[in-house]
Amino acid sequence: MTDSQKPIGVAVLGFGNVGSQVVRIIEQSADDLAARIGAPLVLRGVGVRRVADDRGISIDKLTDNIEELVSRDDVDIVVELMGPVEPARKAILAALEQGKSVVTANKALMAVSTGELAQAAENARVDLYFEASVAGAIPVIRPLTQSLAGDSVVRVAGIVNGTTNYILSEMDSTGADYASALADASALGYAEADPTADVEGYDAAAKAAILASIAFHTRVSSNDVYREGITKVSSVDFESAKALGCTIKLLAICERLTSDEGQQRVSARVYPALVPLDHPLAAVNGAFNAVVVEAEAAGRLMFYGQGAGGAPTASAVMGDLVMAARNRVQGGRGPRESKYAKLPIAPIGFIPTRYYVNMDVADRTGVLSAVAAEFGKRDVSIAEVRQEGMVDEGGQRRGARIVVVTHQATDAALSETVSALADLDVVQSINSVLRMEGTTE
Ligand code: NAP
Repeated sequence: MTDSQKPIGVAVLGFGNVGSQVVRIIEQSADDLAARIGAPLVLRGVGVRRVADDRGISIDKLTDNIEELVSRDDVDIVVELMGPVEPARKAILAALEQGKSVVTANKALMAVSTGELAQAAENARVDLYFEASVAGAIPVIRPLTQSLAGDSVVRVAGIVNGTTNYILSEMDSTGADYASALADASALGYAEADPTADVEGYDAAAKAAILASIAFHTRVSSNDVYREGITKVSSVDFESAKALGCTIKLLAICERLTSDEGQQRVSARVYPALVPLDHPLAAVNGAFNAVVVEAEAAGRLMFYGQGAGGAPTASAVMGDLVMAARNRVQGGRGPRESKYAKLPIAPIGFIPTRYYVNMDVADRTGVLSAVAAEFGKRDVSIAEVRQEGMVDEGGQRRGARIVVVTHQATDAALSETVSALADLDVVQSINSVLRMEGTTE
């Protein structure tokens, strides 16, 4: 063995869905990985909570002492796949401070990062990679940080949560309501026992924070991301969306906005939105993810694939691991964190989008003009109105439903309009208010 073939020692923290797949690939592809890296990868140990001999891995490799595993002299790279912010943060920080490179899939941690981990990596001149933290197998962090490093990203918009995309795709294709689509997703293993992080948009918001941070060279944390989940989306919304030539998707949108005075701001937001059927994101169905990046010189780029699952996520982790190992062998490191732009975050009230408002109204003359007047008073221009009579189970007319689609308006103007509509005698209920994305009118 030459000096450059000195083994690279790896500690994997976590042996769950992703960790077990990473260990499998390290072991099964050992020869290929060694050839690609220029030195063998050697698994020194695997950190877990439950050390036992029934886990499909030699018990000698397992430990519940994460601190000791990370500190071993023969560990060069730590792969963190445990999950929550703690104890992952502490383990990663310890690894970096001891001069070990780190690979992680931990979106929750990376989305609340204050720069402490990046600074520790900088101080020790080692790598901190996190490709798997956004959109599973889909390469999106590296294209943004490296391939587009010389371009200026304007917008990153995507479907980055497979659970909610599965639920919304089911509602669209079968007419199911939210509760039964969620039950199906749980039965098939697409939704966790407690689906809150997915259906309320927290998971997508963490990913939006990570994407916005790297796309716009600005620290954006989960708390900066405006967030609405999918729990209020109804089968009636899907019927109306279809009539308008749209479907409904939970979108994560990160944008660099420039005011008339030239001031730049970053917007990061997650919400369900109507998307025209001819938009590329409308065709992303089931548990798949996709991210569309728009950059000034490159134009529009689209990344599509499996956004979760043990093996697909392990693919992204392994890509990072091979890069970090190559850097060790060749004596260098990948790009450092870039947060130089420090752009302010734009409040949601300033963001112009199109809206869809679905309301039940009294079935009598003058209702439409009363409704239209409330939009007009706040300069919210109406693009399209649909009115349907509604009949009850006995076949009797019992009011009417109005669907209004607006041109672009700010969230603040729309919110005021909706409050005023709710106060009108002729409006029986505001059924839903959703944004419409993918058109600019
Ligand atoms: P998982 O199946 O729940 O596995 C977590 C592993 O971490 C388990 O082996 C667990 O040990 C170990 N662990 C947890 N807390 C620990 C502690 N305090 N000390 C020692 N070991 C501990 O999780 P996963 O689905 O593989 O996800 C791992 C990470 O990847 C998370 O950050 C997740 O957000 C991210 N990720 C996952 C996916 C995916 O599709 N699953 C996709 C993208 C990113 P025991 O086995 O002993 O309980």
